[in-house]
Amino acid sequence: NAKDEGKNTFRMFSEELNRSSHERIQLVHALQHAMEKNELSLHYQPKISNGDGRIIGVEALLRWNSEELGAVTPDRFIPLAEESRLIMPIGEWVLRTACRQQVAWREQGLDLCLAVNISAVQLKSPHLIETVQAIIEETGIVPEQLELELTESSLVDKPEEVTRILERLRGLKCNIAIDDFGVGYSSLSYLKNFPVTVLKIDRSFVKDLSHNSSDRAIAQSVVDLANNLNMVTVAEGVEHPDQQRILEEIGCSYVQGYLHCRPVPPEQIPGIVRERNGAAPAAHAAGGLEV
Ligand code: C2E
Ligand code: MG
Ligand code: MG
Ligand code: MG
Repeated sequence: NAKDEGKNTFRMFSEELNRSSHERIQLVHALQHAMEKNELSLHYQPKISNGDGRIIGVEALLRWNSEELGAVTPDRFIPLAEESRLIMPIGEWVLRTACRQQVAWREQGLDLCLAVNISAVQLKSPHLIETVQAIIEETGIVPEQLELELTESSLVDKPEEVTRILERLRGLKCNIAIDDFGVGYSSLSYLKNFPVTVLKIDRSFVKDLSHNSSDRAIAQSVVDLANNLNMVTVAEGVEHPDQQRILEEIGCSYVQGYLHCRPVPPEQIPGIVRERNGAAPAAHAAGGLEV
């Protein structure tokens, strides 16, 4: 009868809940030891200039290969890292590791901008500015070559406070990108005040670009908005040549996506960049490139 059905539904629901909370506890527990066990690593996805097709930079993307749980994707563990605040030490590790890598590449003659994702939790921490400044000094990265990616949703609450933090980050000379732009309900009036340099068009608008005229209109509007506010645009998730062609037509400055390159381990970057951009300038080659 209906009452029993109700009970069964409840039992199924609570088992589901238990399973998921058990899984979350297990994940958080494993994540607590991931850094010391060397289970975290970074992959890097090239960013390509639509003007000349060259790779101008890379985005660092966190990877977790857990001894206990196998490979866990960022979509599963980043939210838990945020809730447990483990994102604080992990985020600092990401920034330091990626900046060191960028400097190591520079010393090999590869000149790449570096984008690093910063969580809303890090943005709201009073230590972010000091941490970024310390890592810039310690690693010797040229701050103009560092871009911090903040999701649009992390900017929406307390926009006045966020504006002050962003201004101080800009004071360190690094660039600021709004990631996943268009899905986070940010108000255009705040956008005007945020000292942001880059808008990253969310993958959801790129996906159906070639057959959805609304998505094309949205992408075009983001590009126009960025141009008028002196920002540049990056489209994420470009998988198909038709999407690429439209993004060029609407004047989007940079693209990232599987069409061009998947995120790869750092060892693969020099080869990929040299293949795509041509040989390094002679001055750099003399500086010890292993071709
Ligand atoms: P995101 O910053 O928007 O990064 C783009 C995501 O799209 C990456 O997923 C990338 O691998 C994926 N991607 C790139 N090109 C394509 C494509 O052509 N098609 C498809 N389907 N996907 C593509 P990933 O590496 O799984 O990261 C997911 C999200 O996790 C990131 O989204 C970012 O929000 C977060 N994340 C990753 N690494 C970090 C980190 O170090 N710190 C923080 N706070 N968040 C991170
Ligand atoms: Mg990103
Ligand atoms: Mg994104
Ligand atoms: Mg996205």
